[in-house]
Amino acid sequence: MTDPAPPPPAPLPGVHRVWEEDVLPALERYTTVPCLSPAYDADWEAGGHLAAAADLLARWCAGRPVHDIQAEVVGRPGATPLLLAETPVTGGASGTVVIYGHLDKQPPLGAWRDGLGPFTPVREGDRLYGRGTGDDGYATFAALAAVELLDAAGIPRPRVLVLTEASEESGSPDLPDHLEALAPRIGHPDLVLCLDSGCLSYDRLWLTTSLRGNLVLTVSVEVLAEGVHSGSAGGIVPTSFRLLRQLLDRLEDSATGEVRLPELHAEVPDAHRPGEAPPWQAADTFPTVPGLVLEGTSDTERLLRRAWGPALAVTGMDGVPSVRDGGNVLRPCTTAKLSLRLPPSVDAQRAARAVEGVLTADPPAGATVRVRAESPATGWVAPAFEPWVTEAFGSASQEVFGRAPGTLGEGGTIPFLAMLTERYPGTPLVATGVLGPGSNAHGPNEFLHLPMAEAVTVASARLIAAAGRSPA
Ligand SMILES: [Zn+2]
Repeated sequence: MTDPAPPPPAPLPGVHRVWEEDVLPALERYTTVPCLSPAYDADWEAGGHLAAAADLLARWCAGRPVHDIQAEVVGRPGATPLLLAETPVTGGASGTVVIYGHLDKQPPLGAWRDGLGPFTPVREGDRLYGRGTGDDGYATFAALAAVELLDAAGIPRPRVLVLTEASEESGSPDLPDHLEALAPRIGHPDLVLCLDSGCLSYDRLWLTTSLRGNLVLTVSVEVLAEGVHSGSAGGIVPTSFRLLRQLLDRLEDSATGEVRLPELHAEVPDAHRPGEAPPWQAADTFPTVPGLVLEGTSDTERLLRRAWGPALAVTGMDGVPSVRDGGNVLRPCTTAKLSLRLPPSVDAQRAARAVEGVLTADPPAGATVRVRAESPATGWVAPAFEPWVTEAFGSASQEVFGRAPGTLGEGGTIPFLAMLTERYPGTPLVATGVLGPGSNAHGPNEFLHLPMAEAVTVASARLIAAAGRSPA
């Protein structure tokens, strides 16, 4: 994206006012709703928080000054709700734009800083703190605000469908059925816009070029029917923790973190190599302890590792008491939950089979090893962007920041994109977002960077309008 900058279009006034006066009060109300994704709230249906959040957003959408706006919550028993806001074409434009966001949230995860809390919205300068503000509660508001700005300015645009789902943080298990049921209504979109992605800095817009896949699995190693005195069995019965370490060593080199399985690696296309001197520093991005040595030798290499490298994290353990409760016992079993990030072009099902294969083959010391893969999600590689897409996105970045946009391979996963690319081959799919340095989605102290949210709103408006003019 180093082409000479096109002249910025006539400015779209009012984005700041809409955010301050109309969006923020509603977004703050949404922040107070503990609408955790089903994977983190087994009682989500009885609790009703997802339904409450969907209703809150639907009511806000229905009240916007947008041409003939219809907002409804689509539900099926046992499935999370889907918010659907639809507005017909204006001014003789044509086509359909689908905008995607999600309203389910990650759990609080860790202690939040004094004065902050996951369900307490707190505004500090350019930031709105709270779980789900940036990931991804802002998306529905940004989408509708974009349409509202176009309608207020009298700029013709295609039909817009805003789909806000409620199972994304659980791997979007309910989305395929929702999409299937809505297929006749959606038709074949001319543009799909996903507002659930990230940015590398807050000084320009960022276009997502790839996302990694994700493989979540549990592995358990059992050595005894019940715990026994470690003084009696230690040195005779192999410990389940040591055997688990051996299994994990089959997946990664514990000295370097390199993933050993060739099935979990991919060639990096030349167009996806990050430029030298990115406007980003790993050291400023993560709250590392003093003196921690990061993996990778430069920030450029780290961006490449994050976008296109596999990586293993142990995210939970069972069978291991807390330190305070640990006794002199040789425990019967250790279970670990693994999160494996996969390069964008790796088939997650194939990767899952490879991982299960190496973990279950030839169990160390004849222990009982069980492996359960939970939710293989394949990553996504953006097809080459059509010129009208890069131009509309580029002019929005110029309009807001006076700077060309950047491109970014994201380390996270959005299962929806691979699903949609399969469902609508040939439809341009633009993913962008507000999750940048420090925003800490999934961790404590998550915040929404408000100027970035406004910028994404402008970008959405420009892309929607351009989709109505694109060659069909
Ligand atoms: Zn998200």
